[in-house]
Amino acid sequence: MRITCGKCQAVYCISERVIGSAGRIVKCAKCTHTWMVTTPSTSFAAHKTHYDYKVNLPVLFKPALPHYFKIIPITLALIIIFVGLIFFSEKLINLQPAKIIYEKCGIYSTKGLLLNDFVIDTHENEIAVNGFITNSSDEDKIVPDIRYILLNNNKEVIFRYTKPSSKEAIKANQTLPISAKITNVKAKAEYLQLDIGNKLELLLR
Ligand SMILES: [Zn+2]
Repeated sequence: MRITCGKCQAVYCISERVIGSAGRIVKCAKCTHTWMVTTPSTSFAAHKTHYDYKVNLPVLFKPALPHYFKIIPITLALIIIFVGLIFFSEKLINLQPAKIIYEKCGIYSTKGLLLNDFVIDTHENEIAVNGFITNSSDEDKIVPDIRYILLNNNKEVIFRYTKPSSKEAIKANQTLPISAKITNVKAKAEYLQLDIGNKLELLLR
């Protein structure tokens, strides 16, 4: 069939089979104007003799999906991977290559690590904390982050500090002494909340 560019009037011939029943977007090779071509209801054979073969065929485009149709699945996949890495971290943390990614973010396995025998001594505006972290698992573990939260009588947070992991190892079935001194406590501290874990665990708790 014969089609004419609406902008520069260049004439092209093109097979109806290429256009298809649904139509197709074509681009003028001369002026780059694009437009939608549909097949005419009239007989193909009737126009056959009028083809102008001297003009190049226009560049054809497959009907393209809008851009967001490509971005949505990629974004969804990334969100699913990210959420999966957070919620299944306990299971994935010992598996490569996830383990490397977690460790780069300061997330180590803390399964089997326990706080023991913590003693708190208060002297005026200074609080001394002493205790132990026990590794009850069968494998070496990295010393976890330790979070200290002081609360007043109304259970309001008056102090919060997280001591980052020293990256040292606690061997299997061994105990590591822990001590901390919190000084210049301004309000009267009534409660101490101690927590150990990796960066992700402490963030989610
Ligand atoms: Zn044109």
